[in-house]
Amino acid sequence: MDFSNQSINPAIVLSENKSVKIESTFATVVYPPSTLYNVQGSTYDPKHIPGASGYSWKQLLIYYGIGVPGNADDCCFAISPPAPGGSTHPQFLVGGHMTTSSNGVVPVGGICYLMPLCKWHNSTNRDGIPFTPLHKPILELYGYMQAEPAALFKMRLPSEERFAVIRIKDGSWISENLSENSMNLFEARSKNKAADADDHYFLFERDKEDNSLTLVNQGGVKDLSEL
Ligand SMILES: [Zn+2]
Repeated sequence: MDFSNQSINPAIVLSENKSVKIESTFATVVYPPSTLYNVQGSTYDPKHIPGASGYSWKQLLIYYGIGVPGNADDCCFAISPPAPGGSTHPQFLVGGHMTTSSNGVVPVGGICYLMPLCKWHNSTNRDGIPFTPLHKPILELYGYMQAEPAALFKMRLPSEERFAVIRIKDGSWISENLSENSMNLFEARSKNKAADADDHYFLFERDKEDNSLTLVNQGGVKDLSEL
């Protein structure tokens, strides 16, 4: 498994390598650095990448209590540059990946940040432009792979459960942790081609020591790029 080529969708790499083991990751709620830049290449092109919908980076922020609908921080976190009137600012529409590097690159194994943004501030037209964020808690991400789906990052977070699955149903990615019992039920449903079985999935077993995930089974198409 080589995630050093960050232009590769990890999901497609997964589909090509049966003996894959993927490293765990983690996230922490922190106050933001004073200046941040958009991470380049973190936005999916839905035409080319399967699973652009599904579990989103916005949902991951809300999962950590950031930008919960109706709360005071349910808004775009960019104070500057100022957005023009009539733009989507100050709505919280997406989870935007941010870095302290002005070139927008997150080094492999490095950290980046995730914060609520409107679509105007999240646009690639704003790449390389310094943002001043609100002084409110955001998420620091460790081991994020550029262009990684939110569902895959969430699956790589540590869990007490022994199994984890990432699945694509109706073109959307979701992931969840499974006990041994739930995993057996999941596999039985897939084997019997139950009506509610998942179209395509990757099932992993989690290492108790380091939380890494080893691929133990997969179903559905061999090449996700055909989706
Ligand atoms: Zn904005």
